[in-house]
Amino acid sequence: MTTIIGESVFLPWHQELRVQLQEAIDGDRLPHALLLRGARGLGKGLFAEVVARGLLCQTNELKACGVCRSCVLLASGNHPDYFHIRPEEDKKQIRVEQIRDLIGRLILTSQMQGYKVAVIKPADAMNTNAQNSLLKTLEEPPAKTVLLLVSSDAAALAPTVLSRCQSLRFANPDTNVALAWLDGQGDADWPQLLQLAWGAPLLAVELDRQGAAEIGQTLADDLKALLEGRCDPVSTAESWAGDQLDLRMRWLQQQVYGVIQWQILGLAPELVHKTLQRSLQNSISALSLTESFRYLDRLQYAIGLADRAVNQALAILPILSVWADGPRFEQIVADQL
Ligand SMILES: [Zn+2]
Repeated sequence: MTTIIGESVFLPWHQELRVQLQEAIDGDRLPHALLLRGARGLGKGLFAEVVARGLLCQTNELKACGVCRSCVLLASGNHPDYFHIRPEEDKKQIRVEQIRDLIGRLILTSQMQGYKVAVIKPADAMNTNAQNSLLKTLEEPPAKTVLLLVSSDAAALAPTVLSRCQSLRFANPDTNVALAWLDGQGDADWPQLLQLAWGAPLLAVELDRQGAAEIGQTLADDLKALLEGRCDPVSTAESWAGDQLDLRMRWLQQQVYGVIQWQILGLAPELVHKTLQRSLQNSISALSLTESFRYLDRLQYAIGLADRAVNQALAILPILSVWADGPRFEQIVADQL
């Protein structure tokens, strides 16, 4: 598998945005604050790094030469005009002190007589104070300063921050483009993984590394046991909670999406795991489409739980309970959303 991080090229589906940015640079219209937004797994962070490298290079604009003093310093992690702000180790948030420190450095003159570039990733990890302290810099930035905010959850940013940034929107690549790129990343069931990642190629790679292919069978066996009353939801919830909750919830979401297609089309689609198809066959006609969609929403919420410090087993228990002697999606009531 090739290394993605650190590769100094734009990904195939980034070309349009690259052209857009290059034109802005050529026309001296480069915004001082860019918000790179879009779903997780589209390579926004990689795009930000490549742009930063290009801006700091002493010879080119967006194409870093790799050999000038600036490129060498950046590669060694010692560039004086490059700042990468992220949550500190073991922390979820970017603190106000980190942003104040950044601002203090940005107002100094560039040490390499070029741009000063700061990447803030994930920008939505900035707490309210941190976001507020950044406002003035976003409004009146020091000369030749570019701030690159990267976010998969831009709605979580304050409207005052959003309005001061120019958005670069990352969309899912065309499936063929994504699969062609994924084929170059090694051997895996990429069509299946890309579906599990809702079309985001880098997330597909991550899910593969997490063992998505192997985990699918285990999860299907667990759900089948629940459906047939051979296991209780509490013990399933306990075994599902933990470091791969995100993957488990995505897989479950895919199954329910399949169930919805089944309800509409009348035929079991490939999305529904083979192990589950026979157990579900008799109950599909009794399910209400509205309840299935509501359950799908509930799962979307559960995916977000993976990053939060909550009792995960307790949080997913209602989600799994509906499969016991079920599925009984009507058990998910509105006030649980
Ligand atoms: Zn260079």
